[in-house]
Amino acid sequence: MATVPLSLRDCEHLDTQDPLQHLRSAFQLPQGVIYLDGNSLGALPRNTAQVVADAVRTEWGEGLIRSWNDAGWIDLPQRIGDKIASLIGAAPGTVVATDSTSINLYKVLSAAIGMAGQDAPQRKRVVSERSNFPTDLYIAQSVCRQHGCELQLVDASELDAALTDEVAVLMLTHVNYRTGAMFDMQAVTRRAHAAGALVVWDLAHSAGAVPVALQDAQADYAVGCGYKYLNGGPGAPAFVWVHPRHTDRFWQPLSGWFGHAAPFAFTPGYEPAQGIQRYLCGTQPILSLRALECGVDSVLAAGTGGDAMRALRRKSLALTDLFITLVEQRCASHDLKLVTPREHARRGSQVSLARQDGAYPIMQALIARGVIGDFRAGDPQATLGHVDQMDILRFGFTPLYNSFADVWHAVEHLQAVLSSSEWTQARFNSKQAVT
Ligand SMILES: *Cc1c(COP(=O)(O)O)cnc(C)c1O
Repeated sequence: MATVPLSLRDCEHLDTQDPLQHLRSAFQLPQGVIYLDGNSLGALPRNTAQVVADAVRTEWGEGLIRSWNDAGWIDLPQRIGDKIASLIGAAPGTVVATDSTSINLYKVLSAAIGMAGQDAPQRKRVVSERSNFPTDLYIAQSVCRQHGCELQLVDASELDAALTDEVAVLMLTHVNYRTGAMFDMQAVTRRAHAAGALVVWDLAHSAGAVPVALQDAQADYAVGCGYKYLNGGPGAPAFVWVHPRHTDRFWQPLSGWFGHAAPFAFTPGYEPAQGIQRYLCGTQPILSLRALECGVDSVLAAGTGGDAMRALRRKSLALTDLFITLVEQRCASHDLKLVTPREHARRGSQVSLARQDGAYPIMQALIARGVIGDFRAGDPQATLGHVDQMDILRFGFTPLYNSFADVWHAVEHLQAVLSSSEWTQARFNSKQAVT
C-alpha cells in the first residue's frame, strides 16, 4: 500500500503515461458514466453500428442470399474464431465463434465425457468448483444425467484431493466471476492430466481480459463469451476451442448441418466436418457475428494477439492495483472485504468487494451516480462468513477504455455513498430482474 495518499493528479498523470490511452476514443461511452461492468457487457465500439447497418442494408438488403458467398458470411465463424484464437494462445483453425457459452459448454463437456468413456469407462465423475458460474453447473448437471455421471462440486482448495481415478473431466472457469480469482491454467491442467482427467476451461472472464495460453497449457477444451471483454454486444456469439489432438476423435452431440463435412450436399447421413467446424450446429447469426467481429477487432487494436494481451494485462493490473489501494486509503472504515487476490498471478481483471449488508443498495446508489458496476448475491447455503456466502460489489476494469482517473472518481463516489446514508434510501433497495 502506498504510504502517501494518492491524489486525482497522480491518477491523471498515470493517464498521460498510458500507452493504450488512445484506444478509449474507439468506444462510444455515455457522458458522465464511469463504466466498470465490461466483465458483464463490454462497451460499444464506435464502428459497430455502421458495420451492422451495412450488413443489414447492403449485404442483406441488396446482396440477399448471394451474401452467404459474396459477403463471406459462410466463413465468419472461422474468421472471427482465428482472431479470438490469437488472443487465447490457440492455433489458427482451432476456434469457431458460434452459439452461446452455455451451448458450447454442452458440446465440449459431452465430447470430453464421451472420450473419457472410450478411454477409461470406469471414470464417471465430473469435478467442478462450487462457486463456478451457475449456468456451467446447470449444463454439467444435464450432461451428467445423460451420461450416467456424477457431478462433484468442491472448493478450489480441495481440487487436488478430488482428482481421483474416478474423474473423467475437470471443468473450471479460469477467472471466477464472483471473486475475480484466477487459476494457474498450466499447473491445474498438468495436475488433472497426471490424474488421468481431461480439462474443460471456461474463459468467459479471461478472453480479452488476461493472457491465456491454451496450447502451451496442453488444455483439452475451452469455451468463452463474446459479449464481455470481447465487446461483441448483448447476446453476442460465444466461442469454442478444442485441442487438435481431440477434434476429430469425437462428434459433438449437436450435430447440425453447419458442422457437416458437406452441408450443401444435403445427404441424409451425418458426417462430421474435419476440424473445429464440426463444433458448429445450425445457421449462424450473421448480424451478431458482424458485431462480434468489431468487438474482437477493438481488442486487437491494442496489438497483435499475444502482444495485445500483454499490453492490456499490464494496464489491467495497474488499474486494479490502483483501485485496491484507493479503496483501502479512502474507504477503510466501511466493512468492505477485498475478496479478489492481491497476487497478480491469481487476479483477473476485476475487483470484488464483499459486504455483509447493503451491497445491493450501495451498488444501486453508485449506478445512480453514473458509476456502473454490478452486484452478485452470496450463496445463503455457504458457510457463514465464507466469501461464497457474502454479497459482492463487482468492479470490472477494461484497459481498452477505463482510465486511471476513472478509478479515482469511482472510489470518490464509493466513499461518498458509504459515508452518507444515501444508499439506505428505499429506491435503491428494490431489486430489478437483472442485477
Ligand atoms: C458470463 C458467463 C456465462 C454466460 O453464458 P451464456 O450462455 O452466454 O448465458 C457462462 N459461464 C461463465 C463462467 C460466465 O462468466
